[in-house]
Amino acid sequence: MEDTIAAISTPIGEGGIAIIRISGPRALEIADAIFVSQHGKPSEFQSHTIHLGSIGRNGDFLDQVLLTVMRAPRTYTAEDVVEINCHGGPLNARSILSRCLRNGARAAEPGEFTKRAFLNGRIDLSQAEAVMDLIAAKTDRAHAAAAQALEGHLARRIEEIREDLISILAHIEAHIDFPEEDIATDTREKWLARTDQVLKVLDRLHATAREGKILREGIAVAIVGRPNVGKSSLMNALLGEDRSIVTPIPGTTRDTIEEMANIRGIPIRFTDTAGLRIPRGTLEGIGIARSRKALQRSMLVIHVLDVSKSFSNMEIELTQLYQGKPAIQVHNKIDLPQKLKLPGRFPKAKTVRVSALRGDGIDELRDVIEDTVFSGRAGAFQSDVVINERHAEAIQSAMISLTSAMEEMRGESTAEFISQQLRAALDAIGEIVGKTTTEDILEKIFSTFCIGK
Ligand code: GDP
Repeated sequence: MEDTIAAISTPIGEGGIAIIRISGPRALEIADAIFVSQHGKPSEFQSHTIHLGSIGRNGDFLDQVLLTVMRAPRTYTAEDVVEINCHGGPLNARSILSRCLRNGARAAEPGEFTKRAFLNGRIDLSQAEAVMDLIAAKTDRAHAAAAQALEGHLARRIEEIREDLISILAHIEAHIDFPEEDIATDTREKWLARTDQVLKVLDRLHATAREGKILREGIAVAIVGRPNVGKSSLMNALLGEDRSIVTPIPGTTRDTIEEMANIRGIPIRFTDTAGLRIPRGTLEGIGIARSRKALQRSMLVIHVLDVSKSFSNMEIELTQLYQGKPAIQVHNKIDLPQKLKLPGRFPKAKTVRVSALRGDGIDELRDVIEDTVFSGRAGAFQSDVVINERHAEAIQSAMISLTSAMEEMRGESTAEFISQQLRAALDAIGEIVGKTTTEDILEKIFSTFCIGK
């Protein structure tokens, strides 16, 4: 990794400042070439100090900047790093970046700074991924999970599992040198018990992938209901802001409205499918393909009913649209005199009584949403580490190897065969933290980063 890379590390756009980051063996030399200051040259500055100066001078002047010098290895990439705080503005930052490039830096690829931090051993792969999750986090809960991973919680958990496996392997491999001797039954049983223990730990970790996905990507929730039952009002009550269109005229909410909400730390995309009208009470009449798509895509359906109106058969048709999906039936307008009587044939679901107008029951609805999303295990996972899909695949493959290893332990297999399976499991687990990683995996992970990170 001989070259020196540079990029604008702040978002493109107008702002108070923008930061250009330079990393690599020539970072200080490049800084010397472009930075002018009465305080001296960057290569002479002490590490971790910041200095006022300018980029260029006289006819060459670009901007007044603050330049930070951070010498290896105590830096983000563990290489020499220079950061230039210039005035925000895409053109200004780009002009300074070009000057870095003209003086010997190469434009950094997406995620290349973080990739170097990983390749130089400052962070492991799970922490590198956590950097991205932290940047992308939309809710406090998603942020907390990413922060924990960045702190190394997952990495430590993985290390413990690896140590357990290595210790089992050591015992087994001690028998490889004596292939003639049979392995005693109680020895095999000890191995089995210990491997089973690791398998159980992996299984629990694997189960957190679902929560991880929810926190990372959020979930889609569709709000369905007849016109005027209060879908938009409910969505607004849940969002805590008056953002979608609320109107007393039936069918005026023409299209689906999508809003991102934070419900108990879960990023939720609410779609108000007000467009899902059922003219003449026929299912065939349902127009607006987008509403139906939103319904198909959603992981949870909220069916809103108006308790101040008498029951309509259309409600049954609506329930047929979301059959088989997790659903919550919200009985709205409890502040009005009640007329709604559900017939016995009406499909039952979790029910919450609310007044979207007054806000009654909205907190309870938030609880029920949280509970439904996490299948009743909402509290259980909060303090735990969560994994992503790549980790889940690695764990899955380790579990398969361990299961085969256990079969061989039960049978007549030699220590050599058993150890091969355990080694395969160890490799798979190592992929999570980057102990065993191919260039392909790295490419896949870091290409999803933004430039400058
Ligand atoms: P949508 O067509 O299902 O989206 O319904 P809206 O949210 O536009 O609401 C239709 C009408 O019902 C509006 O006049 C709302 O103010 C009113 N509304 C909504 N929720 C409540 C409620 O809880 N109580 C009362 N009294 N009126 C409500």
